[in-house]
Amino acid sequence: MTGRPQKVVIVGGVAGGMSAATRLRRLDESAEIVVFERGQYVSFANCGLPYYVGGAIENRDSLLLQTPESLRARFNLDVHTRSEVLSIDRQGKTVQVRAGGAIRSEFYDILILAAGATVRDSLVGGGVPVRTLRTIDDVDAITAVLDAVGTDARAVVAGAGFIGLEAVENLVARGVTTTLVQRGPHPLSPLDPEMARPVLDALTASGVDVRVHATVSDIRDGTVHLDDGSVLEADLVIDARGVRPDTRLAADAGLTIGATGGIVVDDFQRTSDASIYAVGDAVEKTDALDASATLVTMAGLANRHGRTAADAICGSTDPTVPSFGTAIVGIFDLTVAMIGWSESRLVAAGRPHRVVHTHPSSHAGYYPGAEQMAMKLLIDSETDALLGAQIVGGAGVDKRIDVLATAMAGGITASALSRLELAYAPQYGSAKDPINMAGYVADNLATGATRSIQWHELSDALESGAVLVDVRTESEFSRGAIPGAVNLPLDEIRERRDELADAPLIVHCQVGQRGHTAARLLSQLGFDVRNLDGGCRTWLAGAAEPSRVLSAAVTIP
Ligand code: FAD
Repeated sequence: MTGRPQKVVIVGGVAGGMSAATRLRRLDESAEIVVFERGQYVSFANCGLPYYVGGAIENRDSLLLQTPESLRARFNLDVHTRSEVLSIDRQGKTVQVRAGGAIRSEFYDILILAAGATVRDSLVGGGVPVRTLRTIDDVDAITAVLDAVGTDARAVVAGAGFIGLEAVENLVARGVTTTLVQRGPHPLSPLDPEMARPVLDALTASGVDVRVHATVSDIRDGTVHLDDGSVLEADLVIDARGVRPDTRLAADAGLTIGATGGIVVDDFQRTSDASIYAVGDAVEKTDALDASATLVTMAGLANRHGRTAADAICGSTDPTVPSFGTAIVGIFDLTVAMIGWSESRLVAAGRPHRVVHTHPSSHAGYYPGAEQMAMKLLIDSETDALLGAQIVGGAGVDKRIDVLATAMAGGITASALSRLELAYAPQYGSAKDPINMAGYVADNLATGATRSIQWHELSDALESGAVLVDVRTESEFSRGAIPGAVNLPLDEIRERRDELADAPLIVHCQVGQRGHTAARLLSQLGFDVRNLDGGCRTWLAGAAEPSRVLSAAVTIP
């Protein structure tokens, strides 16, 4: 490594900033490394904050991973808390720092900006305390309010993104009566609607009052007003409506800010000034699918890019890699994970794609404790490349999203998932792991062995004269069916095939697997047939109002 800096100043002492600082020290024992952090704490576990509110993390101190003293002892870092960097003088290579009422200048050879994100616009509380959930101060304030109100506490959470959902889960864990307000049609807007349905169901089943298509318009006289006219009594509002890159310092210093609102950096985290690097939530990332600039506010990237910046400062020519936006969140008993682009985004971009829905078990069904998950793959219909995935379920979701993330990073195609040799014993997976199974389905679509139809295409196809054949058993059919379906159980198709109309057929079962077998059989018998992808389970999850589309008093089990 060459070109060692004399003095590196870092703004922001949490994920990206502290990763950069510690990596830098591991590479360069001689550098002077100074960190300025506006808040009282450095290197705290911001991802753990919601779980302290809910009590899963009992000890507040366990959120505090390092102190200036411990960072001095291990890494010889010069860390200053309650020290806000006010401005950058690029000509003089100094930053102006306010600490303890005094303002001073600090010289740098290299500056790293890791100021994170900031809330878009603050909700103002008229008689109701409003907090974000971003800092130790926030959780101290939130728990103080809830403790003061006691057992009857009521909270409104604005925004059903990752942090909003984590806030809701932990408020409920504390016994707080909770309303969740979401501007869009469902929680977790990056999910496609049929994948978001279980999230909505989990929230309502846990007693959360979910208000979709609504925003908080006003807070006055101790009440929260929504733009749909409803008024909510609340002791606390948590503002989780999302964040934007904190670029104030960078913008004031004339650094290039991109169209996304994040600081523009190159593959080595260098800004438009070669002496200034930037990492973390404040910075634009490169989308792995189309190389466009994008914002991904995730801890893994902040840490990795902090390391990349330190490496580059020490002379590395190893560039950072684009981002797929891999993410996971828990909400009650559900785990929700995603990567890449959603179907909605692919449609909006006009990018040709195929979709696969499956509903595999977390491990072999005969071994106790298996949990079903809903898995969705988005696949480039021309190249078979994986473009995205969404998984919602319980056990095993985390493992599968990481296999898919690895596959996408390695350029493994959707069909090739079927050939991955994954570890198996009954308590961990299946001989055909959910990843392999999704690969088989993708392979069948790629080779034309099966044709599928999506849940949202069904009604148009039926209107055009297709016949819907439910190949589940009579008993399953009698417990609930898609309106208009005729029942012809899979095991009776060969004997009763003459009963089938001479029309395009759409077959379906519960999750798509028996439908595939039926589709293969019927196509070999000469029928024009497509399989309803993901079966009636996916169709039902996507139906706008399930209670209206199912015949009275029946549900699809
Ligand atoms: P931060 O870690 O936010 O650090 C920025 C720091 O800079 C702040 O401490 C701030 O005080 C300081 N600062 C700003 N301006 C100045 C200034 N002018 N002078 C001095 N200091 C300044 N990501 C995940 O991947 N998984 C999760 O489960 C997850 N959960 C989360 C839960 C919560 C409640 C929150 C808030 C975030 C969560 N994230 C999660 C996101 C993740 O924490 C961020 O992506 C990551 O911390 C970003 O790192 P950063 O260094 O850019 O910013």
